[in-house]
Amino acid sequence: MATYKIQEKELQSVFENLLKKNIVEGIMVQKKGEHGIFPVLITDPDLLEGITPSAPLFSFNRAVLLQNNGCRKLAVVVNPCEARAINELKKLNQIDMDNLIVISGDCLGTFDPKDVQMDSTSPENIAEKKSELRTACTVCEHFTPPEVDIAIYGIGVDGGLVLSTDREELLEGLSLTPGEPSANRDAEIKKILDEHLAAKEKMVSGISETLSTTDGTIELFKHCIRCDNCRDVCPICYCKVCYFQTPLGDLKTDDMVNQASIKGLLRIPPDILFYHLTRNIHVAPGCVECGACEEACPRDIPLLPVWKALASDVQSIFDYIAGMEKEVPLPLVQFKEDEFED
Ligand code: SF4
Ligand code: SF4
Ligand code: SF4
Repeated sequence: MATYKIQEKELQSVFENLLKKNIVEGIMVQKKGEHGIFPVLITDPDLLEGITPSAPLFSFNRAVLLQNNGCRKLAVVVNPCEARAINELKKLNQIDMDNLIVISGDCLGTFDPKDVQMDSTSPENIAEKKSELRTACTVCEHFTPPEVDIAIYGIGVDGGLVLSTDREELLEGLSLTPGEPSANRDAEIKKILDEHLAAKEKMVSGISETLSTTDGTIELFKHCIRCDNCRDVCPICYCKVCYFQTPLGDLKTDDMVNQASIKGLLRIPPDILFYHLTRNIHVAPGCVECGACEEACPRDIPLLPVWKALASDVQSIFDYIAGMEKEVPLPLVQFKEDEFED
């Protein structure tokens, strides 16, 4: 693994190198424009001027855009929860990693651009806005890059950043200075993690108990209108045709009349609980706890606490953390004879 000390403004030359050497045809990165900072896809190296790769913004999990990537080679600069979703989708055969270079950095939390106008990405400006961080970020346990092609470390680095990669060919031609994070990095990560774990504990307290009963679960989801937003923005809900879009799941009025006539009454929209339980079963082993679903919910259903509790419970049973490593197999595709003996 090679590591180099770099200043943030030098990242532009790293991306420029990838484009100019035709290693990739485009780079997905954030850039400041007339209306604020937004993710863009840049193919012209001259238009890299003004990029803001470390702007702490999150409007949706960009891994959803990469499902079924074609043969055009791209580099993407994403947050760790997005990089984990990409790794997870790779294992589900939804992303061809041969055509994708994933770059991800330490993440001290992100803001929703609809709530926070990011004029400057300076640490002072970010610290000032800390109370407006996305809720998912205040309880995030995996805020450092998972296994990616190029990792960018900022935590525990004195003055600047450290690039880390085992694909040195991606940096060929650049004159970079070797360097490493300081010895404090692990301690600084632990300090942040402890804060987030305490906040998570508070968030999920009672939720597993609520979810363990039918009444509690109904209560939790009772205001859901089955708009399906939580499914559509979720990178891990990847089925091409969701059951709830098929004639069996997507009930028309005649079907609802048939169902109503069984008991004489049907709660509408139908199948709210069935919808959420289906999503819970399908997504829990791979949920990356990005919070995109809760933010997309028009009814303020507390989806994040549900997923924080479920994903942790399910993934810890399998000693698995979704998307942290590229090659560790998905828990539900392995059969171990000695599993769950008790
Ligand atoms: S959930 Fe974690 S990785 Fe994702 S944006 Fe927030 S702090 Fe970063
Ligand atoms: S269920 Fe929600 S928190 Fe989990 S990966 Fe999907 S969108 Fe992110
Ligand atoms: S986004 Fe909210 S209202 Fe829409 S289906 Fe999901 S939980 Fe229900």
